[in-house]
Amino acid sequence: MLSRMDMFTAEERSALMARIRSSGTTPEVRLYELVRATLGNRWRIDRNARHLPGKPDVLVPSLALAVFADGCFFHGCAEHSRVPKSNADYWGPKIARNASRDAASRRQLRELGLEVWRFWEHDLRGRPLESTQASLKVRLAQRALHVPPAQGRLLYRRATRQLEAQDHPSVARNGDRRAPTSGQQSYS
Ligand SMILES: [Zn+2]
Repeated sequence: MLSRMDMFTAEERSALMARIRSSGTTPEVRLYELVRATLGNRWRIDRNARHLPGKPDVLVPSLALAVFADGCFFHGCAEHSRVPKSNADYWGPKIARNASRDAASRRQLRELGLEVWRFWEHDLRGRPLESTQASLKVRLAQRALHVPPAQGRLLYRRATRQLEAQDHPSVARNGDRRAPTSGQQSYS
């Protein structure tokens, strides 16, 4: 497992990092490139997972892992999200709503049994980018040790089935929904 993480030599990795640094892309794309550079090509890595709450920017099904790259302004980073004075009545509540929706999505994903990580835009550019990659590498390796791919895929399948059941209650009724164990159910 760990050997897969080390598919790149130090030179290859730094060349890759240079390419990522120099490309003027979005935080979401840089996050994807970092995860791809760390895990190598044998892993399935999805981008913009629309079928999951909050549309995680990066999804690694084999690790049951969803990762977000949140823009500092729109998602309300404490360091960089300055509400424009001219339109504070608009932007203040809007950014607050975004932040609470983000928190709800992360909670929902965790309740589905997925691991959720979040990076800020400021983690993914300039000087911090290198330390972000270093910590990402460690965290991915730990996750892969903790949740082997077969288990990760199982967790991921379970999460998507659970979501489908929520979206289509009739499927769940015909499926494996269990009878209530407590007699306190209200039918009003
Ligand atoms: Zn920031």
